[in-house]
Amino acid sequence: MKKYMRAKLPELKKIVYDHYGNSCTKCAENNIHKLTIEHIGGVRSHYRHPSGKRKRGLNLFRLIIKENFPDYITVLCFNCNLGGYIEQISTPS
Ligand SMILES: [Zn+2]
Repeated sequence: MKKYMRAKLPELKKIVYDHYGNSCTKCAENNIHKLTIEHIGGVRSHYRHPSGKRKRGLNLFRLIIKENFPDYITVLCFNCNLGGYIEQISTPS
C-alpha cells in the first residue's frame, strides 16, 4: 500500500504542476525539482493537519486535484518562494 502511494506521488505532482503551467509564476524557472507549491494569502485551514502542520506530498497534491486546482494555489521556485516569505515578514502592515 505504501509503495503504491509513493509511486503515485510523481504522477500527482506532474498533474498539478502541469495545470499551473510547469514553471515559477514569478521568474519562469521551469526545473520541476526547484518548484514548490505556494499558498496565496496564507495556508487555508483545510490545507493543514489537525496538528496545524501544512499538508505536504501526497496529501497536498491530492487535495489540490480534488479541489480542482483552486486559484489561491500557485507554483513558485524555491528562490521566489523564499523571497516572498522574506517580503511578507519584513513589510510593515
Ligand atoms: Zn522563481
